[in-house]
Amino acid sequence: MPDDAASKAKNYGFATRLSHAGRPGTHVHGFVNPAVHRGSTVLFPDCQARKDGAKHRFEQYMTYGTQGGPTHYAFENVIAEIEGGTRSLIVGTGLAAVAVPLLAYLKAGDHCLMPDSAYGPARNLCEGLLKGWGITTTFYDPCINEAGIAALIRPNTKVVYTESPGSHTFEVQDVPAIARAAHARGAKVLMDNTWGIHHFRPFEKGVDVSIQALTKYVGGHSDVLLGSVTVNNDADWQVVRGAASQLGQYASPDDVWLGLRGVRTMLVRLKRQEASGLEVARWLETRSEVKQVLHPALPSHPQHALFRRDFTGACSLFGVVFQPRYTVEDVARFVDSLALFGIGASWGGYESLAILTTGNVTRTAGTGEFGGPMARIHVGLEEPADLIADLGQALARLG
Ligand SMILES: *Cc1c(COP(=O)(O)O)cnc(C)c1O
Repeated sequence: MPDDAASKAKNYGFATRLSHAGRPGTHVHGFVNPAVHRGSTVLFPDCQARKDGAKHRFEQYMTYGTQGGPTHYAFENVIAEIEGGTRSLIVGTGLAAVAVPLLAYLKAGDHCLMPDSAYGPARNLCEGLLKGWGITTTFYDPCINEAGIAALIRPNTKVVYTESPGSHTFEVQDVPAIARAAHARGAKVLMDNTWGIHHFRPFEKGVDVSIQALTKYVGGHSDVLLGSVTVNNDADWQVVRGAASQLGQYASPDDVWLGLRGVRTMLVRLKRQEASGLEVARWLETRSEVKQVLHPALPSHPQHALFRRDFTGACSLFGVVFQPRYTVEDVARFVDSLALFGIGASWGGYESLAILTTGNVTRTAGTGEFGGPMARIHVGLEEPADLIADLGQALARLG
C-alpha cells in the first residue's frame, strides 16, 4: 500500500520514496493524494482532550491551525525525506525559512558568520533587523578553509551560515570543514541548500539546520512560494519549531498542496534540466564572447573538485562571465535580445530565465569579481537546441 509509513519502513530507492512519502494510503476514501485541509479552529470532544492536546503542540498533533494540519504534515514528511533529516517545518516563503532559524539561534550580543555570496535578502536581514537587535554579522569569503573560518569564530559566534554554491556567483563551499570548525567552537551550522536540493545531503556533511526555497524546483511551476526548515534531532526541532510558533509562521494549505503536487515530478524535471543546463553551459564555454561559465559541474569551475566530492548532481542555474571588453550595457542588450528566456528573478520552474548579475549583487568581503560583466541563466524544460540558437542570436548583438 503506497503510504508514508510503508515508504519509511523499507530501504527503497530515493525515487520510490519520493513518490510514496506523505501519502494517506486508503485512509481518505482511497484517493491517491492528501486532501487540502483548510482550518483555523480544531475541535476536541471535551475540555480534558483539549488540555492533553496542548502538551503535544510541536508534534504532528493538531490543536490550532497555526500548528499546521494534515496537508502540511504530509508535505513536511516528503521534504524531510528529500533532505535526509528527522523533521521539516513548512513556512510561507524561502526567505521565511532563512529568517526562522536565524531568529531562533541568535539573540542580542551574538555574532553570526555569513558567506559573502549569500542570497541577497538573507544579507539584508543580517544588516537590517538583526543588526538593530544587537546581533552582529561578519561576511566571509565563501571559499574559506577550515583554519580561516576557525579564526573568524568568536566566543559569541552562535551561527555559521553556509550557502553552497553561492547565489549568483556559484562558489562551492567546503561545508564539512566549516562545520567541523563551527562545532569545535559550539556554533550551529545553518545551510541554504536550495541549489543542492537532493544532490547535497546536508546532515551527512555536518549541517544542523537545512533551508530550502521550495519555490524553486519543488514547486517547479513558478506559481507558488514556499520554504522549509529541516533538522536532524529533536533538540533542534524544539528550537526552530518554537521560534516559528512565536513568530506565527505558517503556509497556506492550498500552497502546500501545490508543493505536494510539484514534488512528485521533481526528479524527472531536475534530471532533464540538469542535462539541458549542462548542454547550454558547455556550449557557452566554447564561445569567444564568454570569459567563464560559473557552473560547478563543469571541470573548469574553480571548486569543481569539491563539487565532485560533495554533490551527486547539479540543477540548471549557473552564471556567465563575459569578456571584459563588453560593458554591462552590452550584456543588458544580450539579455534583452533573448526570445525564449524570461527576464525575471527566481528559478527552478519549467521555463528558462536570464538576468543581469553585475550591478544587482551586494558584496562586502571582496568576493564575486570574475573580471567581466555577468549574467545568470536558468535553463527550463525547453529543447536545448532552441535555447542554444536563441543564445547564439543574442550573443551576435553583444557589440
Ligand atoms: C529564492 C531563494 C530564496 C528565497 O525563496 P523565496 O521563496 O523566493 O522567498 C532563498 N534562498 C535562495 C538561494 C534562493 O534562490
